Amino acid sequence: MSHRVTLIPGDGVGPEITQATRRVIEATGVAIEWEEALAGAEVFKTGDTSGVPQATVDSIARTGVALKGPLTTPVGFGEKSANVTLRKLFETYANLRPARQIPGVPTRYDGEGIDFIVVRENIEDLYAGVEYMESRDAAVALKIISRRGSEKIIRYAFELARREGRKKVTCATKSNILKLSEGLFQRVFEEMAPEYPEIEPQHLIIDNVAHQLVKDPAQFDVIVTTNLAGDIISDLASGLVGGLGFAASGNFGDEVAIFEAVHGSAPKYAGKNVINPTALILSSVLMLRYLGEAQAAQTVEDAVFVTLEEGKAVTLDVARQAGNVEQATSTSGFADSIIENLGRAPSVRYPTKSDGAPSTPLEPRPRWAARPAIVDTTQLVGVDIYAEHDADATATGRALEAVAGPDFKLQFVSARGTLVYPAANSNIDTVGWWRCRFVAAEEGAIVTDAGILGLIERVGAVMPWVHIQKLRLFEGEEGFTRAQGQ
Ligand code: NAD
Repeated sequence: MSHRVTLIPGDGVGPEITQATRRVIEATGVAIEWEEALAGAEVFKTGDTSGVPQATVDSIARTGVALKGPLTTPVGFGEKSANVTLRKLFETYANLRPARQIPGVPTRYDGEGIDFIVVRENIEDLYAGVEYMESRDAAVALKIISRRGSEKIIRYAFELARREGRKKVTCATKSNILKLSEGLFQRVFEEMAPEYPEIEPQHLIIDNVAHQLVKDPAQFDVIVTTNLAGDIISDLASGLVGGLGFAASGNFGDEVAIFEAVHGSAPKYAGKNVINPTALILSSVLMLRYLGEAQAAQTVEDAVFVTLEEGKAVTLDVARQAGNVEQATSTSGFADSIIENLGRAPSVRYPTKSDGAPSTPLEPRPRWAARPAIVDTTQLVGVDIYAEHDADATATGRALEAVAGPDFKLQFVSARGTLVYPAANSNIDTVGWWRCRFVAAEEGAIVTDAGILGLIERVGAVMPWVHIQKLRLFEGEEGFTRAQGQ
């Protein structure tokens, strides 16, 4: 059976590594009809600000599978990342990044048995990319974590562990500080874990995970985490097993999968035919498994491992580490060696935490489908008004108290999350941007939208407000955090 795959060459070194990968896959005899499609820098130049033309979207919708080279994203300004756009357009909510010791790639952890998978949430968190300048000098970004988004990725991680016969899933969050957002992710993890009694659930704070990853990486099996944390620790993980040149990844949704290397477009090496194509070739191993071509996947993986193990052909990054740059093999030459080695097996097979069960595409069971209609039990208890004001905390607090009116009282003013009025014991630099929390003047009194609108108008008369946030109770629980020092 022939498979259809969208091939996105991408930017920088992308065309070289996608070409090398395509040749290796074709040499296995697996029949693939490639649909070449554009995305990234060339597309931005045409004035398409999404970086992903409709023809590319249509192709992926048709094929359901894409193999892509890296795409360049302007840093700090300009267009949004075309990578992130692609992941979101197809709701590829699970980003899988395996870290496993590779034969022939020496690391500081040789022989320790590193074999774990980072399962990174791929849609939400700070990657929702919702940002505002709250004043000329203060920016905020919304960190969005939803129950449904968390359920999808955590279900994915447990199902992956079950399918591969893995024993432990570690949930990594910053729930000690971000109690509502990262806390929700942890709570969903703890709710779902009992559905997988054969798998040991573990929760660790993400900073400790970073520490443990460097100290004793072999202890990990599957790590499930939020988007930004997953981005960072998966790069760290790739450093444990040889570096970005070897780090494969796949983005999985319910209908679409996009396979790519973890690394970027490495522009300084573009067009030089020197970059290591291993990361994308190992990503294509994930793709072949996803397509149900387990045998071809094994053949390619083995050939890559034989090539690396024998070390007759080494790319510049590896040659540089060994101090023999002049003996480096080109990208295309390295692909030739892999092709020559198809059908051979490496002499070393590192033990894996997986029980070797054949991989099949995941079929996530949507838990949310049968949820009963939501009964509104929320209760409005106040409002945070964010305002700009060029004065000190005491003057700001007094100005706000003067306009609170009969129905509200100013509970506190905070600056950058820390209480500064009343009775602040902090020396925080207040930066002229304030959170002003108003609650009902009398405890238990009802707060209404109309009351809030009147209050906003009165505050607006004494200082420019920039945004408001309602304070609500959910089933009696506060749906907001307190100020540091409150
Ligand atoms: P990068 O990963 O492109 O390169 C960083 C360095 O890592 C390179 O200079 C090189 O020394 C090394 N390296 C990377 N891949 C290698 C390989 N295959 N073989 C050998 N060495 C390799 O990171 P960057 O320079 O920060 O980013 C460049 C561009 O890529 C940016 O525009 C960034 O936004 C984009 N990017 C895209 C993706 C993606 O498409 N998924 C991912 C990361 C970065």
